[in-house]
Amino acid sequence: MLVYKSEKEIEIIRRNNLLVSKTLAEVAKLIKPGVTTLELDKRAEEFIRDNGAVPGFLGYGGFPNTLCTSVNDQVVHGIPSDYVLKNGDIVSVDCGTYMEGYYGDTAYTFPVGEVSDEIMNLLRITKESLFKGIENAVEGMRVGDIGNAVQVHAENSGYSVVREMVGHGLGKNMHEAPEVPNYGKKGRGILLKKGLVLCIEPMINLGGKQIKQDDDGWTISTIDGKPSAHYELAVVVDKGKAEILSTFDYIEEITKNKI
Ligand code: MG
Ligand code: MG
Repeated sequence: MLVYKSEKEIEIIRRNNLLVSKTLAEVAKLIKPGVTTLELDKRAEEFIRDNGAVPGFLGYGGFPNTLCTSVNDQVVHGIPSDYVLKNGDIVSVDCGTYMEGYYGDTAYTFPVGEVSDEIMNLLRITKESLFKGIENAVEGMRVGDIGNAVQVHAENSGYSVVREMVGHGLGKNMHEAPEVPNYGKKGRGILLKKGLVLCIEPMINLGGKQIKQDDDGWTISTIDGKPSAHYELAVVVDKGKAEILSTFDYIEEITKNKI
């Protein structure tokens, strides 16, 4: 069932997503060689609670932490740990909040220290592919138009698109209909209408598209061990142009946007 949100609901979802965006900026301040992913997680939880929300992922389906931190060949759902980030790593930080009965959900992949040009290009193309997808989150388009735009941009750059993990609707639940694949055919899938809130989140691999779940029951990694990037924004479908409910601006004020 598709749930179209009222202006009032969209306001609450926006507040959640702006808090996630600001939380990711707090995390950005800490990201450098020598920090553990668990330290990032602690800061995120503290910041979310200080701002009157609760972590959206903590306990969700039994997930043990506030952030998903997915390093290098980890695609998504990495569990924060005592892993020490090192120069040349990339880390996808995915964060959710819950307040006033609604969720926020946004993700950003950060370079750690100096990262190779090859991997920086993967980050750039993945972020661009997200915005190509958002350009299609417009009333009258279809969900396949979003996926097609992401897929074409990523594959034209020689990268591959993860199939099994997809974007989703967002609202009173973290994951609502519809599924928003990062691949697809133009003109296929459900018709997009004003008020539908979507998380668009390309997961793009430097090598092959195949993934596996690690023994921890959560972490998704590439089978070939090559890096994967992930960016996510929440948007609301509207006439003419989607409205983006989260933002990378707070993060990129901190990082000086090198991507
Ligand atoms: Mg997310
Ligand atoms: Mg999501």
